[in-house]
Amino acid sequence: MEQISEQLGQNLRQLRQDRQWSLDEAARRTGVSKAMLGQIERGESSPTIATLWRIATGFHISYSSLLTGLTEESSLIQQGITLDSDDPGIQVKALFPYNPATGFEVMQLRLEPGSSTLSDPHEAGVSEHLIVTEGCVELWLKGQWHPVRQGETFRFAADQPHGYRNNSSIPTEFHDIIHYAGQVRPAQPLTDT
Ligand code: MN
Repeated sequence: MEQISEQLGQNLRQLRQDRQWSLDEAARRTGVSKAMLGQIERGESSPTIATLWRIATGFHISYSSLLTGLTEESSLIQQGITLDSDDPGIQVKALFPYNPATGFEVMQLRLEPGSSTLSDPHEAGVSEHLIVTEGCVELWLKGQWHPVRQGETFRFAADQPHGYRNNSSIPTEFHDIIHYAGQVRPAQPLTDT
């Protein structure tokens, strides 16, 4: 867990330096405060999933590129890469981190009963494909909650507000295939450092 926070901080600082953005500029483009960005860069803060998405969107990169520089064509990741986030009751793993050759990343989300997360719109061209493997997750879309149960799937354009919650009494787990057809570019310099 600790390692991911450090990796995230290093990645963010590297990205910002590559773009030659000051902390002020990065704050303006991501909508995340300068103080919070500084804390993340120093590995002092575990941001929420919603905050990580704001940063990824502001930098025009994929979500998992923030967590890892992995962009190999083939790799074996035995346990997935767990994201240390500040959301109680929510665990996020990158099963397949973003790969520019395929244009997608595969995340696994696990929500304990009573937990939820809401997301700002991602960039145009980003779509999400949910595959529920356990329990029932509810998806917030177009002003209402849509239950998606074990064995069911749901696809939606993610360039609109959306969110997930577990309103049941047992945990729920689902895969989220996030496809980037828009202007997202790989965070290439990360692999060289
Ligand atoms: Mn999303």
